Amino acid sequence: MDERVEVAAGKFELVFVKPQLLGLENLPGIGAKTASKLRERGILDQSDLLLFVPRKYRRCAHFLPADDMFARRMSYVEFIAPISQVKHPTPGTRQPVEVYLNYEGRHIKLLWFNMGKSKTFKNQFRQGEWLHVKGSVDYSRSVAVMQHPDFETLGPGKQRAPDEYISIDPIYTSMDGIKDASLRKAQLLALERLLPELGDIVPGGVLAKHELPGIGQALRIIHVMDEHHDVEYFQAQLGRAKRRIIYEEFYTLQLKLARDYAAQRDAARSPRCEDRALGRELVKQLPFELTGDQKKVMATIAEDLAQPMPMRRLLQGDVGSGKTVVALLAAAIAIGSGQQVAMMAPTDILARQHLRRAQTFFEGLGISMGFLGGSLGVREKREILRQLAEHEVSLVVGTHALFSQDITFAQLGLVLVDEQHKFGVEQRELLLAKGQDPHLLSMTATPIPRSLAHAVFGDLDLSVIHEKPPGRQPIRTVLRDRSRAPKVYKYVRERIKESGEQAYFVYPMVVASEAGLDRKNVVDEAKALDEGIFEDLRVGVLHGRLSTDEKDRIMTSFSDGELDVLCATTVIEVGVDVANATLMVIESPEVFGLSQLHQLRGRVGRGEASSMCVLLANENLSPEAQERLISFTDTDDGFKLAEVDLKIRGPGLFLGVRQAGEAEFRFGDLHRDAELLERAREDARARVLGKDAP
Ligand code: ADP
Ligand code: MG
Repeated sequence: MDERVEVAAGKFELVFVKPQLLGLENLPGIGAKTASKLRERGILDQSDLLLFVPRKYRRCAHFLPADDMFARRMSYVEFIAPISQVKHPTPGTRQPVEVYLNYEGRHIKLLWFNMGKSKTFKNQFRQGEWLHVKGSVDYSRSVAVMQHPDFETLGPGKQRAPDEYISIDPIYTSMDGIKDASLRKAQLLALERLLPELGDIVPGGVLAKHELPGIGQALRIIHVMDEHHDVEYFQAQLGRAKRRIIYEEFYTLQLKLARDYAAQRDAARSPRCEDRALGRELVKQLPFELTGDQKKVMATIAEDLAQPMPMRRLLQGDVGSGKTVVALLAAAIAIGSGQQVAMMAPTDILARQHLRRAQTFFEGLGISMGFLGGSLGVREKREILRQLAEHEVSLVVGTHALFSQDITFAQLGLVLVDEQHKFGVEQRELLLAKGQDPHLLSMTATPIPRSLAHAVFGDLDLSVIHEKPPGRQPIRTVLRDRSRAPKVYKYVRERIKESGEQAYFVYPMVVASEAGLDRKNVVDEAKALDEGIFEDLRVGVLHGRLSTDEKDRIMTSFSDGELDVLCATTVIEVGVDVANATLMVIESPEVFGLSQLHQLRGRVGRGEASSMCVLLANENLSPEAQERLISFTDTDDGFKLAEVDLKIRGPGLFLGVRQAGEAEFRFGDLHRDAELLERAREDARARVLGKDAP
């Protein structure tokens, strides 16, 4: 790969042959002061000037016949006309200087405020002399008025024959302390000097395939370097030019991701896990048949695990689609091939639940397992550390504690990360560093829109489970006004009494707070329910301020059926799996994002009984909030909801703040340009890996 591309990949900057050309001070007319002002605004060199693109474009009528100009009500005009009258303000008042022009029989009024005191200013205007005027025009009662227009005095007699044309002017965001005109001048200079030198990071063939212009041409169009009289033609060109810039931005990032990926793979010496016997045993003793999607994903993973390159796979699947089983099967292959496996989950509750499930599934297969989390006592912790270091334990399930420094593995061959978006990339890397290029399988139940996944996790291969295990009943979701709460409670109570089902009540807050007076909190509401309508039911409370032991105890008694109702905050959002819980009431649902609501809802509908989710919304919802919640009751498709969320609330919702920063593009928009991103990713991978992405 050539060197210039090396420089630019990953960081969105333009590719030049000679970087020494780029200093801002090299531009005539830009002094040290202006240069430092530009730098403050992130314009570090001339290439940044090129990427400082217009905020919008303005159609401008130049020297149009007066009738045309007025009939079209052009908002920005340029013309020459003689002065018919000048009105000076009365001294001591705030009246403006008024100059009247006669433009082919039409009157145009020019106004300047606060200029009344300046004799030099006022004396420029003499009746009968011609002005060349440029600026915005307002129409007030059929009189055209222009405030503080740009002008030039031309003296008596018509000085210039008017051309007639409409042009397009780029409008840039103004910068404090720098005149628009000087900025534009500097920019045009930079463009003229650099465009001929500009290299193109995207190969010509790729551009042709997508019908995109070269980078130089795109920038010419965007900065309106050529005259464009035909507005429609210009707009079509501009559309392509903008796409080109967006593509460039995606492509540079994807090129970097693909290159990192390739470098990692080429240098790696991962354990080849080829013994699938234990995996087969496990499949045989599962209490159910794997779904088609699970089998397909499993086949891919088994193949990955047998390679000397580390698997880097992100497994996406809607809540309840059965990702954990797949992860455990991968674990079986790795363990059967002599490796240790670490499975990391974001909470103690979830980690313990995974361990319990693993113990059930692996029963009798002679796998030694352990737990590692914040809730362990010193002695227990010391013991598990020893067991890991000496390979006495093959599968360890835990939380963040897993990547802490004092932990060593004898033979870590596979890392499983559940709810991977709850972890940072560097945390993932810390855990991976504990083995010799171990394989990685990340899972997420937050269905990250594909575009987002590719933007940020471009280095991961993607597998998706669409299919749900058979026999699942759809969850009936309804939206109810808070005034109907007593009825809803009564209904829940009856169902519990009748069939022994269990219910979740979910609240956005732990305790009452000023910040959210209209938001229900779990502590007060649980108490009210327990002492009121649910007096004869067993009610438990679960939230993040409880100790780990306490949380664990409550979760366990709920899953053992010793509680009828669990009042909780979003701590139950991830992973918790109690098949007998079929009812969920979400209080103040308008506070949550759709994906989060979907996660919460996913806690029910996990068994074969039919489940129900009730949203108890505040009375005075905004129409938008209402619409959002209704769309939630209408669809059970987490991916669709995630797309809606991405559109409304941006990528920050799916990713940690830092990762969201990585996913924010300057020109591209993950939602709008998803398809372009997909292409850029494929192109970049094809270029680096020498083949098309899978
Ligand atoms: P996820 O992690 O994708 O949300 P889980 O792995 O927790 O889903 O699976 C949800 C529930 O479905 C678990 O109780 C699991 O044992 C069960 N399950 C998984 N796969 C199947 C299957 N193929 N058939 C029936 N039940 C399944
Ligand atoms: Mg899960």
